[in-house]
Amino acid sequence: MYKIEYENIKPFLLGGKCNFVLINTTTNNHIGYTINLVDKKKETDKDRYYIFYNSTSPIYIGWLNEDASWLGLAPNIEEQYLKQQAIFHKLHEFIFKKNKYPNNIEIHYTGQCSKCGRILKDPKYIKLGIGKYCLESKE
Ligand SMILES: [Zn+2]
Repeated sequence: MYKIEYENIKPFLLGGKCNFVLINTTTNNHIGYTINLVDKKKETDKDRYYIFYNSTSPIYIGWLNEDASWLGLAPNIEEQYLKQQAIFHKLHEFIFKKNKYPNNIEIHYTGQCSKCGRILKDPKYIKLGIGKYCLESKE
């Protein structure tokens, strides 16, 4: 697992195929999440990110709009997953609204590009969580 530094977290999370583990270094609690970009179906729609808690099967917990400024929470989530949903909610608030990173939070990942899923080999891009080609092809 590799750690994503705070300054690289936003583009990493919004890569489109992002898989990460949120670690609370105080409690040593690990929670896995996936954030998938789903392309709009109609021209008038907007792209959205769908957020899943990585349980034995993925649990849908909510969505983000394309610039991540808005988080919509899945309303009918099972009670046992409310905690993971609430923790993501908090993470979103810190990173995308307050632009702050709690000291006891780390984001780790397996070393796969958050845009295309390929395994990264170059340490320079492992640090970013996005490969060279995907960085350059950024619109
Ligand atoms: Zn890539």
